[in-house]
Amino acid sequence: MIRDIVKYGDPVLRAKGARVARVDDGVRQLAADMLETMYDAHGVGLAAQQVGVALQLCVVDVSGAEDRPSTLSIDGVEVPVEGRMPLVLLNPELELKPGREVGVEGCLSFPEITADIPRAPAVVIRAFDLEGQEVRFEATGLLARALQHEIDHLNGVLFIDRMSSAARAGLAGRLKRLSRG
Ligand code: ZN
Repeated sequence: MIRDIVKYGDPVLRAKGARVARVDDGVRQLAADMLETMYDAHGVGLAAQQVGVALQLCVVDVSGAEDRPSTLSIDGVEVPVEGRMPLVLLNPELELKPGREVGVEGCLSFPEITADIPRAPAVVIRAFDLEGQEVRFEATGLLARALQHEIDHLNGVLFIDRMSSAARAGLAGRLKRLSRG
C-alpha cells in the first residue's frame, strides 16, 4: 500500500525513532509499504518518519541511479550493488569515514527542493534486516550519501540542517510555505 509522505512542518520529522524491538507483521507491512511508496515517488530512500512512524526503519534503493555510482563492500570485498537492493535496515548504526564530499540531495518530504550537502564519502553500516539477521557493510558514492540522509531522518535530523546557512537562507520563503502546508 502506498502511504502518504509526510511533508516538512510535520513534527514527526523531528522525532527520534524508537528502536524496533521485534520484527512482527506490522513492521514487515510497514517496510513493504515504504518500499512501494518510495518507488512510486521515484526516491532512492525513505525513512519511517516520512510515512508518519517514528521508528528506526529505513529503506534504500540506488539501483536506478546509473549516473551516480555507488559501491558496497562486505568484509572488505566489493559486491554488485544492484544485487543487494533494496536495503531494508532496522536499528541502523552509522560509522562515518573521514573526509567530506559535496553532492546534490533532495528529499521526498521537501518537494522540489534540492541543495548541495557535504557528507562523508564512505560509511560503515551495522543494522538488522527483516529476518532479524545482523548486516554489516561499507558503502561509498550515492549509496553512502543516501544512507547518511536516511539515518539522519531516523534521528529527527533533516537535510536542511546540513545545508550552508546561505543555502538555507535562500530557501527560507519556500520552507515557510511548505511548513504551512
Ligand atoms: Zn529525506
